[in-house]
Amino acid sequence: MAYMGELGAGSSIYIENQDNQTVVTAIASSPGQQQQTSHSFTTGRWSTSPELFNSPLGVVIKLGTAQGNYYLQVQSHRIAQIETMPPRHTLESIPLQQVVQPPTPPIPSMPSMPPLGMGNRFMNLQPLQMRMGNMHMSMGTAATVTQTTHNNFCSQCGTAVTATDKFCANCGHRLH
Ligand SMILES: [Zn+2]
Repeated sequence: MAYMGELGAGSSIYIENQDNQTVVTAIASSPGQQQQTSHSFTTGRWSTSPELFNSPLGVVIKLGTAQGNYYLQVQSHRIAQIETMPPRHTLESIPLQQVVQPPTPPIPSMPSMPPLGMGNRFMNLQPLQMRMGNMHMSMGTAATVTQTTHNNFCSQCGTAVTATDKFCANCGHRLH
């Protein structure tokens, strides 16, 4: 059960009853940005529909619950419980309309941030490791090639020979 009231100038307020909690969300929109303030109060289940009023002190919400009446005051970015209702003659009723669900809080977009950052760091690391691997491999290959041509293998058939061999044991190629 959620209600929405238009406060004018792009501002609106959502009031929702979730079990024993009343969640009040104040939204202030201006071109290019939206500010959302949400606050939860333990009020118990509503026994009647909430009422919304404009008062000199800000917007006042009246909640009728099984545990009695609750009054909440909304001042720009602050939502607080107040003891009593401001004088009735200072109040101006704001129509509330029932909505299916209040706006999605901005919180769900936050948890996706850290895994994304880790993914980027991973992708940066991999080319570095690969590059280091290639350097190591090419250095090793160069060293082996130098050794091979000189002493350890027959230049004709590739059989391993010792530096002191005059002829290849496999093909008879003259080594020196
Ligand atoms: Zn040989």
